[in-house]
Amino acid sequence: MLENRPHSELVEMASYYDYVEIQPICNNRYLIAQGQANNDEDLRNFNRRLIAIADEAGKPVCATCDAHFLEKHDEIYRKILLAGMKFSDADKDTGIYFRTTEEMLKEFDYLGDRAEEVVITNTNKIADMVESGIRPFPKGTFTPHIDGAEEDLQRICYEHAENQYGSPLPELVKTRLDKELNSIISNGYAVLYIIAQKLVSFSESQGYLVGSRGSVGSSFVASCAGISEVNPLPPHYYCPKCKYSDFSNPEKVGSGFDLPDAYCPKCGEKMRGDGHDIPFETFLGFKGDKSPDIDLNFSGDVQGRVHKYTEELFGAENVFRAGTIGALADKTVFGYVMKYLEERGIKVNQAEIQRIEKHCIGVKRTTGQHPGGIVVVPKEMEIYDFCPVQHPAEDPDSNIVTTHFTFEYLHDTLLKLDELGHDMPTKYKWLEKYSGTSVMDVPMNAPEVYELFTSTEPLGIKKGDIDANIGTYGLPELGTRFVMKMVEEAKPKTFADLLQISGLSHGTDVWTGNAQDLINNGTCTISQVIGCRDNIMNDLIRYGVPNKMSFDIMESVRKGKGLKPEMVEAMNAANVPEWYMNSCRKIKYMFPKAHAAAYVMSAIRLGWYKIHMPLVFYAAFFSAAPGGFDAEIALSGKAGVVRTIREIQEKGNEATQKELGMIPTLNLINECYARKIGFLPIDFEKSEAFAYVPENGKIRLPFNSLAGVGDTAAQAIVDARNEGGILSIEDLKFKARLTKAVVDILKANGALDCLSETNQITFF
Ligand SMILES: [Zn+2]
Repeated sequence: MLENRPHSELVEMASYYDYVEIQPICNNRYLIAQGQANNDEDLRNFNRRLIAIADEAGKPVCATCDAHFLEKHDEIYRKILLAGMKFSDADKDTGIYFRTTEEMLKEFDYLGDRAEEVVITNTNKIADMVESGIRPFPKGTFTPHIDGAEEDLQRICYEHAENQYGSPLPELVKTRLDKELNSIISNGYAVLYIIAQKLVSFSESQGYLVGSRGSVGSSFVASCAGISEVNPLPPHYYCPKCKYSDFSNPEKVGSGFDLPDAYCPKCGEKMRGDGHDIPFETFLGFKGDKSPDIDLNFSGDVQGRVHKYTEELFGAENVFRAGTIGALADKTVFGYVMKYLEERGIKVNQAEIQRIEKHCIGVKRTTGQHPGGIVVVPKEMEIYDFCPVQHPAEDPDSNIVTTHFTFEYLHDTLLKLDELGHDMPTKYKWLEKYSGTSVMDVPMNAPEVYELFTSTEPLGIKKGDIDANIGTYGLPELGTRFVMKMVEEAKPKTFADLLQISGLSHGTDVWTGNAQDLINNGTCTISQVIGCRDNIMNDLIRYGVPNKMSFDIMESVRKGKGLKPEMVEAMNAANVPEWYMNSCRKIKYMFPKAHAAAYVMSAIRLGWYKIHMPLVFYAAFFSAAPGGFDAEIALSGKAGVVRTIREIQEKGNEATQKELGMIPTLNLINECYARKIGFLPIDFEKSEAFAYVPENGKIRLPFNSLAGVGDTAAQAIVDARNEGGILSIEDLKFKARLTKAVVDILKANGALDCLSETNQITFF
């Protein structure tokens, strides 16, 4: 405070600054509350003293509002937010709204003839001192440089493509590859592909496959570089032996995986079908000018190592986590507003409540870090050329450093790699470990797998054995109630249909009130509705709408912007049916087909294991994603599991989040029993810490599947056992540092039956 320091020191402090700020006294009234001032006149005297200090230091004084909201009546929102965050003085008026010049002159009229100087003259002076065109960060794109990235990318892609389709490449393949390479290289994105390629091969070298997300699978270059397993070419056959290919697609299937089995006319080898017909434009834009994002899904087991590897590639000092801003969500705001009004006995109508909520939603609550977003600064620059850095959630003890700006602002300026964690690569790892097969060898057109989407028969389950009419529990993005109901109604028969389902279930206003009605009233089938954004472009070009217009319509529709008059005109000219245009008008968000393809490929693979190697499937699934597995319930048998499911369902809205979260796992456990796969209890000598291991046709449960036994304790038990020499429960408790509670749980479940209580042997 002013009086705690000698006058000379205050003058010295002031001389450090460009100018000294004074503010309306309402802004300082908290000092009265704190007992540091007695009344408003004291506060005015503080401002008078500040002016005297500034005068002596030769610095201009500016009057500012310290505005926290725009209009006086907006203060209510701030009060609600402060009350919601449990500030005791939330109800106090602060009056820190944005004042007009007139209001400011009136506020400071106690300064007499200096009021105009601090309110008008000096503030303008400071504004004039600011360079024009100042930016928070430089204009342009600053990607890290990798020597020879362009040549490497070209070489890798050609090698891969020729290895699959032969040399010289078929015209169609060459045209697509060259078009993409030109566009990628001329826009400076080769380095992005090369980095992604390095990250993927790093993960594969650690024994974990990588999944691609988002629209990167629309790029044939990405599939040639091994970044994405989605082949975006039109549906085609290729011969793995002599490299013959056939793009004629006489059956007009929507996806190469739907091509019937065929043999190579040249060498007689069984051919493979591939290609999902995805335009490159979805990824890089019509002119290759859209800032691309390459999002990759790594197993949680290697995600940390991949982040470390990124630091090795670019230097730790150039690699940062992308910062995020946590905003107040609708639900929280609703709670704040209702509580505020209720506690103060304020009665307003529903419209007013909604109006108040609207002003509070989206206000910053805290900061955090993106789950996998890594920002890379080129070596020749520093992060401070772009933004400050910070610890997330203002936690100085965090070892994470994030960008201060959220990445959406830096999107076109710096490179971000999305190195996300996902349990699919982990499931693959377990499937391969338990089966001794490669998930990549699973056929994509096995008819029995497609039957899972219309019945439970391929699982050998009769109707009523499980709480579902189809067999998709545990298949990625196809095992929830909502999607299963959609699948039952839409009756997908092909891979292309499943792409539609995936698109429909991930879009907004695409299924409900849209495609669902079109299918149910017989206007069209699942194959014809608009499922993924890419379909719009492909469909319209097929109808005869010009390419660029088809692209623009796709972009407008997928962003929920509907159809502009010129778009309607172009669609009418090409005789696009009315239902199609109406469907376009309703869509708010659409999923990219490439992402759908990546999901559905995983689903087909898992479905194949589910049918042919059920024990491996369930063991791998629970090992990678136990999802609140509870050994006691699982061991209570089919009847016990069914009873638990029913009990949770009967609770309705009373059920806790934890209970609801257990339902998918319980459904899978029930399905195991229906397929005559049982569970073996936790056993000191046979159980693993976390892994669910196939054992004589059953699944041996791990230590951490017992409620109350945490991961650390589970690992410690296994470590102690493997070290050997555990003779008694007492021994184990000591060596694994187990609490009495954990030991009691283990004992109660018979896990320690093979051990005696203490090392002393009793003879009678
Ligand atoms: Zn052949």
